[in-house]
Amino acid sequence: MGGMQTDAHKLTIVPEGMIADLLTRQAAFDAVEKVFASMASGEARNFPVVRAALGHEDALYGFKGGFDRAGGVLGLKAGGYWPHNLERRGLINHQSTVLLFDPDSGRVNAMVGGNLLTALRTAAASSVSIKHLARDDAKTLGMIGAGHQSAFQLRAALEIRDFEKVIGWNLHPDKLGSLAQVAKSMGVPFEAVPLERMTEADVIISITSSFNAVLMADHVSPGTHVACMGTDTIGKQEVEVALLAKASVFTDEVAQSVSIGEAQHAISMGLITETDVKQIGAVISGSHVGRQSDDEITLFDGTGVGLQDLAVADSIVKAAVAQGLATVVQL
Ligand code: NAD
Repeated sequence: MGGMQTDAHKLTIVPEGMIADLLTRQAAFDAVEKVFASMASGEARNFPVVRAALGHEDALYGFKGGFDRAGGVLGLKAGGYWPHNLERRGLINHQSTVLLFDPDSGRVNAMVGGNLLTALRTAAASSVSIKHLARDDAKTLGMIGAGHQSAFQLRAALEIRDFEKVIGWNLHPDKLGSLAQVAKSMGVPFEAVPLERMTEADVIISITSSFNAVLMADHVSPGTHVACMGTDTIGKQEVEVALLAKASVFTDEVAQSVSIGEAQHAISMGLITETDVKQIGAVISGSHVGRQSDDEITLFDGTGVGLQDLAVADSIVKAAVAQGLATVVQL
């Protein structure tokens, strides 16, 4: 074959059903923190997000990909939202799969279920922001939103800091039971509150699919850290633009923050500029000081980047191989 490489190549498969046993919250946290730092140093980059309506099953489908030179990880997450899955097939509406490739040769290395991975990597992102931006004496955690992602967010946040109380708000307060249960299981009291009482929180996580500001600037006390995790699409919005104008704004990826993230609105209204939005990775690596005073409001615009998925998928593959649990196919 004239010097062409023909050796057998292995594809490692880790199906969705195995992720819960293989991916610890600590491993997700470590992978996300590390890749955020690599993004800030320029060693890892995300590719532009593709997202399109399929014109079939009312589905939204897309890709998030990237390359982490430092970690040797190249790949993409493909998937999206199929709104009729639950009712028509008994499947969850969000479906995704991660593919990893050998960065040296381009051959496919691994296929990893992406559904639980997405929830855990998203929760890890807000936790990373809390670790690096919240005040050391933060005691009360505020939760806004009580959908699928929220319980993952709460559990991860309670593990990263010794919060003494959780307060929660949801558009439909009857849905707050799942958050109350998570708090209870971790020995922390929970109280449902009106939005005005979010002023009692030292850290606030918003994880809604709202298209209008829910959390107003007046609902946030000086010194609070706010992690906005729900806005990942043009048009979505969780917090009043005035809050971004007075906060120090950090994000996973500036290009996404200003276009599809929470910052899109404050940017388009001219209240802040792109240079006001800092990468959380710079804080992690120490090139940005992060929080500068106890009175400062810090805001993390978590838009969700492909490299988070790839970093976590890579750690899952390594765990599966180390534990002899991976399905390996010779290609
Ligand atoms: P979900 O459908 O299970 O829950 C949606 C939540 O939003 C519910 O609490 C609902 O009450 C609330 N909500 C909807 N409309 C609202 C409104 N007008 N005002 C106030 N609250 C409203 O969704 P989910 O899976 O929990 O995801 C929540 C959001 O997080 C979505 O927007 C999703 O796209 C986004 N998300 C972001 C990332 C990321 O990396 N940043 C990752 C996954 C999901």
